[in-house]
Amino acid sequence: MRRLARTYGTPRKEWFVVGLLGNLVAQFASLAPPVVLGAAIDGVLRGGTFSLPLVPAGWIPTGTDGQFLFAVGVIGGAFVLTALATWVYGVAANEFAHGVMHDVRVDCFEKMQALDMAFFDDKQTGEVMSILSSDTENLEMFLDNALTNSVRLGAMVLGIAGILLYLNPVLAAVTLIIVPGMLVFTVWFMRVAEPRYARRRASVGNLNTRLENAISGVELTKTTASEPYETGRVRDASYRLFEDTMSMLRLAYFYRPGMELLAGVAFVATFGVGGYWLVYGPPLGVGRELEIGTFVTFVFLTQRFVTPLAEVSNIVDQYENAKASSERVFGLMDIPARVRSSEDAVDLTDPEGRVVYDDVSFAYDGIPGRADGAEGRGEETVVRDVSTRAEPGETVGVVGPTGAGKSTLLKLLLRLYDVDEGAITLDGHDVRDVSIESLRDAVGYVGQDTFLFDGTIAENIEYGRFGASDEAVREAARAAEAHEFITQLPDGYETRVGERGVKLSGGQRQRIAIARVVLQDPAVLVLDEATSAVDTKTEYLIQKSLDALSEDRTAFVIAHRLSTVKDADGIVVLDDGEIVERGTHEELLDQDGLYAGLWAVQAGDAERLSGEFGSQIAQD
Ligand code: ADP
Repeated sequence: MRRLARTYGTPRKEWFVVGLLGNLVAQFASLAPPVVLGAAIDGVLRGGTFSLPLVPAGWIPTGTDGQFLFAVGVIGGAFVLTALATWVYGVAANEFAHGVMHDVRVDCFEKMQALDMAFFDDKQTGEVMSILSSDTENLEMFLDNALTNSVRLGAMVLGIAGILLYLNPVLAAVTLIIVPGMLVFTVWFMRVAEPRYARRRASVGNLNTRLENAISGVELTKTTASEPYETGRVRDASYRLFEDTMSMLRLAYFYRPGMELLAGVAFVATFGVGGYWLVYGPPLGVGRELEIGTFVTFVFLTQRFVTPLAEVSNIVDQYENAKASSERVFGLMDIPARVRSSEDAVDLTDPEGRVVYDDVSFAYDGIPGRADGAEGRGEETVVRDVSTRAEPGETVGVVGPTGAGKSTLLKLLLRLYDVDEGAITLDGHDVRDVSIESLRDAVGYVGQDTFLFDGTIAENIEYGRFGASDEAVREAARAAEAHEFITQLPDGYETRVGERGVKLSGGQRQRIAIARVVLQDPAVLVLDEATSAVDTKTEYLIQKSLDALSEDRTAFVIAHRLSTVKDADGIVVLDDGEIVERGTHEELLDQDGLYAGLWAVQAGDAERLSGEFGSQIAQD
């Protein structure tokens, strides 16, 4: 919390101070009317002396008419001042609280975005979303409400007590004797309420995760007709929240009337003792004369005691919420990003595209900075001792069974993850020594799942090359065989794709992704099953464009269909993280190993693999 105040509060402290002052002025101004009313009753209506706390006697007119007008004026002025100060406070306090929230949110997002892929592999979307939305909101609630309410609480209690003690210390003692009782009651309430508030917070989180999960998985729910099951799970989570909320509220609604009752006791005591005093003179002979006006002021102010005190429960709740939230927010901000540009990183200029993998090994491990601090090196190595190279302009096919580590191998080139051992160099520079920006500028990537942002087709092609000319976008789309289908869409390049691009087929999305890379014009191309989502005809078209695209640049092509990489300059066959074979298509067929086997299967020669037929055919 201190960090929140220091980092984000300090730049906006003016707003905070103005808000605080506005609040104090509003509170104190609102105390003026009952005090002036009491003084006016004594001074004007009953012909006594008209005196006010903190106001020099010289300011108060002497004549009855003058005093009456003065009292009316001061009371009216106090209301106007209260309104004005409340307005100032409202604007300033919200400017402060929402401004801080905005800064925290953007900072948090920026920091989060810089985190390693490994972080995102590990986290649920809902978890990260809730840090960015509800946690920052909790901070805002605290900064706005809790902070100002606690100031008001302090000001009211001290202000009222001060005035009462000034007017009549003995009667004030009668009124205030109940305050310690209220404090004890409040402390008891906070103790008992705390675990209930915590339980309720957990239930809210639980329900949100459930809902988020259910909505993301709605397709699975529908296709398996599991709606009742899903509703049941949401009902359970919702009911738990209901129960926890009720358990909290039952206590809160015991506390509030309890406080009011205690205030009532103070009121009755003040009224009883004060009334007796008015009629029979000072009780037990203690104290001076009590004027009826003072008595009226007492009665009014005693009632004003309760509301701010009853706020204590809310303040405590908001404070606890904010504390938990700020721990989560700063926890996220403090996770170190391991994959980042080094201090003395150089920019790759005009890369040629010579890529060398030198004895590279890699294992996925836990997210950095995770609670147990484990670095998980013991986990299964996904890429093991891989050495291979691609000269500028060469195409290297990467094949092998699912899970062999093909995607991982190429993600290491882009530094989505960093190698554990060995090194990858681009034009002789270790990829860890060049700036990430220039590295990713030099390497174009088309993955298996093509993500499109909500926006127009043109915007999606432009992504990463913002501000490209319309002509360049069209040119790229043509090269990616996408121009034709785009122009057939209702709004052509201005057609909006829905969230996640669901309104386009897999093949169409793929071609947009390829157009994006064409526009990027990188020295090195990484195609990870880029044609996996398309039919044979489209594949042929895309293949043609990819061939043209990779003609004069280095390309790594992961392919399930071996025909895609048949003409590559070299092919590496990966199995269980290791290169088991390498060579050209013909050489690999001659080697008669894993590649030849896969080729045979895909060529429809399935028998070749199965039993005795194999050797027979081989002999032919
Ligand atoms: P391929 O592309 O050859 O199918 P991958 O590189 O995708 O293989 O995966 C290789 C292995 O690494 C698999 O066992 C897979 O389960 C594991 N793996 C892939 N991605 C991750 C990840 N983000 N976190 C942990 N393990 C992963």
